[in-house]
Amino acid sequence: MQRTLEKSLSTEWQSELARAVRDAAELCRLLDLPAELAEAAARAAGDFSLCVPRPYLRRIRPGDPRDPLLLQVFPQAVEMALVPGFEPDPLGESSSMPEKGLLWKYRGRILVVAAGCCAVHCRFCFRRHFPYSGGDCGDVSWESILQRVRNEPSVREVILSGGDPLTLPDEEIGSIMLRFEEIPHISRVRIHSRLPIMIPDRITDQLPAVLRASRLSAMMVVHANHPAEIDDAVAAALGRLVDAGIPVLSQGVLLRGVNDRVETLAALYERLADLRVMPYYLHQLDRVAGAAHFEVPIDEGIALVRRLRARLPGYAVPRYVRETQCGSSKETLA
Ligand SMILES: *Cc1c(COP(=O)(O)O)cnc(C)c1O
Ligand code: SF4
Repeated sequence: MQRTLEKSLSTEWQSELARAVRDAAELCRLLDLPAELAEAAARAAGDFSLCVPRPYLRRIRPGDPRDPLLLQVFPQAVEMALVPGFEPDPLGESSSMPEKGLLWKYRGRILVVAAGCCAVHCRFCFRRHFPYSGGDCGDVSWESILQRVRNEPSVREVILSGGDPLTLPDEEIGSIMLRFEEIPHISRVRIHSRLPIMIPDRITDQLPAVLRASRLSAMMVVHANHPAEIDDAVAAALGRLVDAGIPVLSQGVLLRGVNDRVETLAALYERLADLRVMPYYLHQLDRVAGAAHFEVPIDEGIALVRRLRARLPGYAVPRYVRETQCGSSKETLA
């Protein structure tokens, strides 16, 4: 008992992960939402359960079922609608895994599904039907992946994705980096994570040090969709990374009802630029079953990004992209 207590004290963020709200009725109580919504949410969640960490929940406006932060995490009846063109595995990822945990699609970089868990369940997630939601967290064949990478000198960069790789403890991130450090042609590690937004305490003082200790250059890509996601604690967490010399980029998904207005996107990217976080990608929604209600038509997305470009400095405008099943890179739309 004593040991458990010490452990949870030393890693505050891990207790936040464990304390995430997973019950729709509790969420509705905490946010002053009608109890009928909870019943509908419980039915709509299906095999992708509700999961909302409390530091994020505190940024949601109580009593507003249309709050853009709430919409991203709260299951709605429309998720159950079958919409033609929206499929369980829209990118055919389950068939492009040559080793367990490895996605290898683009030249020069590999993507490792380093963790099966996330801090939050985003309702629009293109991996929402991925087998790992069944619970085989972080089931990665490291030895076979390393062997493949050793034999492929064109690979320079390792992308840790998931799930969310920052659900792994600092020590484990460090040991993953060590494994790749031994391969001479690998020079960079990129971490894709939504945790700095969800539970900003995840950016411990130790984490930037772990990343800097490696021979590999580390960079972070944080997933942010709306300016209200970034409160003072998130700003401080991003600052800890940037101050440590770790480049931080942002990516997001264009979502109906969440960030499909030019004012919202401009506020998001202004705020990120103020925090020295540079935009990278704004993704067109992947057409995953259950997420059709989030889709913004591509021509509307292109118009939005053009208007954004007319308002912000060039460096503060993300590239609007879409993932494709084949192709040598993501497709730039604007
Ligand atoms: C998006 C993605 C990458 C990274 O692409 P970049 O354009 O380098 O950001 C790598 N592998 C897979 C499988 C991806 O989906
Ligand atoms: S954090 Fe990323 S991987 Fe996890 S559910 Fe959200 S979008 Fe999907």
